[in-house]
Amino acid sequence: MKKVIVIGGGPAGMMAAGTAAIKHEVLLIEKNEKLGKKLFITGKGRCNFTNACEIENLFDNIITNKNFMYSSFYSFSNDQTIRFFNSFGLKEKIERGNRVFPISDKSSDVIKALEKYLNDNYVQIRLNSEVKEIIVDNGKVKGVLLQGGQEYSCDCLILATGGLSYSQTGSTGDGYKWARRLGHNVVKLKSALVPLVAEEEFIKELQGLSLKNVLVSLYKGEKLIKDYMGEMIFTHFGLSGPAILSLSSLMREDEDYSIKINLKPALDEATLDNRIIRDFEKYTNKNLKNSLDDLLPKKLIPVIIRLSGIDENKKTNQVTKEERIKIRNVLQGLAINITSKRPLNEGIITSGGINVKEIDPTTMQSKIVSGLYFAGEIIDVDALTGGFNLQVAFSTGYLAGENC
Ligand SMILES: Cc1cc2nc3c(=O)[nH]c(=O)nc-3n(C[C@H](O)[C@H](O)[C@H](O)COP(=O)(O)OP(=O)(O)OC[C@H]3O[C@@H](n4cnc5c(N)ncnc54)[C@H](O)[C@@H]3O)c2cc1C
Repeated sequence: MKKVIVIGGGPAGMMAAGTAAIKHEVLLIEKNEKLGKKLFITGKGRCNFTNACEIENLFDNIITNKNFMYSSFYSFSNDQTIRFFNSFGLKEKIERGNRVFPISDKSSDVIKALEKYLNDNYVQIRLNSEVKEIIVDNGKVKGVLLQGGQEYSCDCLILATGGLSYSQTGSTGDGYKWARRLGHNVVKLKSALVPLVAEEEFIKELQGLSLKNVLVSLYKGEKLIKDYMGEMIFTHFGLSGPAILSLSSLMREDEDYSIKINLKPALDEATLDNRIIRDFEKYTNKNLKNSLDDLLPKKLIPVIIRLSGIDENKKTNQVTKEERIKIRNVLQGLAINITSKRPLNEGIITSGGINVKEIDPTTMQSKIVSGLYFAGEIIDVDALTGGFNLQVAFSTGYLAGENC
């Protein structure tokens, strides 16, 4: 029986600790006063803990280093994740896009299940304990030093300290620092799944407006990069919401991007034109600004009219065909220039991390330091929204725990 230490009580660390404890003596060290602080806020408190797609489709949703995930996904798949939580009494429900949530809608139930896994396997847990340094001798892990000065020795150490986003939950990037000192390369850390800052002044007028079932497209110059059908929200600085977050992960630094929003994606041009004509007939003696209530949320009406370049006080029966087409074009292609992404701390995840070339993908062991393993967001793997990032944490956590 080996002595194993896991640093970080997030989803990756808890899965790693519970799994390692089936064979070994395990100590889980967490600097917060409780486990799973970030996990608690996932999925707006509902925790989208995996995705019920076919296992092959998991790879399509990994943005960086999908091939590295082959062994971990096949060792602990999305299906196994669901069965794992079922075995602790958590029932799941599947929503749009195969997103899997606890039926209770409570992320705390996911944390409770993981805590039960730890307790059932006699994992020792030290809360309120911040690791200061890793002790390595002759290229082999020997233990850890806590901020308080205590030392703990071990044969294997699993680093599951997470990324750099939402640092108030405890993910302050400590693991990157230690890994660098031990000779690992850390691929540049950037925010991913992050809100976008927009150039246009009208954005401020739309603050708080949330849109469902819109088609949101990302363009680099004239080139369409990708589009997503779904939800988005206007904020005081720009754009956020699931469709925007997913598109943000496809944006490289220092390139010019724009977003186009099709507010009526279900209607083709002719059908939308007829729809506008019908509304104009219904409100025939009204001003243009008072005739679009059936078609658009109130906040959008003045913006759309302004962008179409028409006088908002014009009577609908005086609006020309040409002007109507301008309105239709704006409705199906509301263009917004993106100036930047919001900072790292505001990303749902951190992209970049421990270079995967330095980790054995079949065990999660470091190729540089013997006895050192990695799990979760600390690794240079990032995925789209939909439960894929937590699946990465569970799969890599399982594999590290199983192999240490
Ligand atoms: C708002 C939000 C919503 C999200 N929603 C979803 C979702 O619905 N579905 C999904 O798949 N993903 C979601 N994610 C992403 C997901 O939460 C992360 O990918 C996941 O938590 C990463 O797990 P981890 O265990 O690697 O790291 P973390 O969860 O960050 O855990 C790392 C732990 O290590 C501890 N630690 C760090 N340094 C030290 C130290 N020196 N000593 C001791 N302990 C230390 C930290 O306190 C922390 O508890 C969301 C993220 C955010 C921010």
